[in-house]
Amino acid sequence: MFSYRHAFHAGSHADILKHLTLVHLLEYLQEKPGALTIVDTHAGAGIYNLEDGFAKVSNESQGGIFRLVQYVESCKKSGTPLASSIEKYAECIHAENADGNLSVYPGSPFILARLLRPQDRLKLFELHPKEIDILRHNIQQLPQAKQIDVYAEDSFARLKGLVPPPSRRGLVLIDPSYEDKQDYRYLEVALEEALQRFATGCYAVWYPILTRRESAALPDRMKKIAAAHQRSWLHTELRVENAPGERRLQASGMFVINPPWTLEKHLADALPVLVEALGLNDGAKFVLNSFEA
Ligand code: SAM
Repeated sequence: MFSYRHAFHAGSHADILKHLTLVHLLEYLQEKPGALTIVDTHAGAGIYNLEDGFAKVSNESQGGIFRLVQYVESCKKSGTPLASSIEKYAECIHAENADGNLSVYPGSPFILARLLRPQDRLKLFELHPKEIDILRHNIQQLPQAKQIDVYAEDSFARLKGLVPPPSRRGLVLIDPSYEDKQDYRYLEVALEEALQRFATGCYAVWYPILTRRESAALPDRMKKIAAAHQRSWLHTELRVENAPGERRLQASGMFVINPPWTLEKHLADALPVLVEALGLNDGAKFVLNSFEA
């Protein structure tokens, strides 16, 4: 426990899939003026320096955000239109790198914080003793800091107590490290409890695609939970290569319960572009399916 540091993975293809989806979810939910409560159950450090430290050791951003930004720039130069969700996501990354040099990568807390409207609230959970200090420090620098609560608590245990939010409008990102195999089970329990209390919330779960039994079973387990609560869902995966071994993560997925009706079209436009921009071999592909309850 606690060997996971998200800085190693900041700006990877998995972050791109997760954050691009997240930006669209928030954009849709903010179309209505009512206050939104956003819970990020596994926050990490908030923002990551790509030029040194852990991120530089792993260099996962080279195969992720650096490739995507280059792709976006070449489309702009050639006048090739881009999927709008890629543009919105790229704007979030650009906002943290205003000098044009890609030196930092915003994690989910920063992406969400920057998009808050005055009426919205953001609740961040982080358990790692070092990450929580870095997260608190990073969040204090933001003009939106007063709208954000940071908890050094186990979010799997706390989530049910936070829903439904007072406005009954909420988005929950569940992004565990799955460092502990039990996370798969904790995720299911927390999601079940949250849906019992707040069936209409939008829940977005990220997961790594690994040969590990629990990982392979995750989408079906999520579908069962959604069905038990008569909820719509959307499932998507992005694979950047198909190579032997699991030394580096080759694919990841998102499972969204109560997805906005616009999400599928946005992802259908964005995913082929991500495969083209980030794919490393013929095994690169995406999956996109959904069910309407
Ligand atoms: N959501 C972040 C992003 O997209 O930028 C990345 C989060 S990272 C995948 C998962 C984080 O969850 C780690 O920093 C880990 O320390 C933290 N964590 C692990 N178990 C937790 C728990 N039960 N409650 C809260 N945080 C936890």
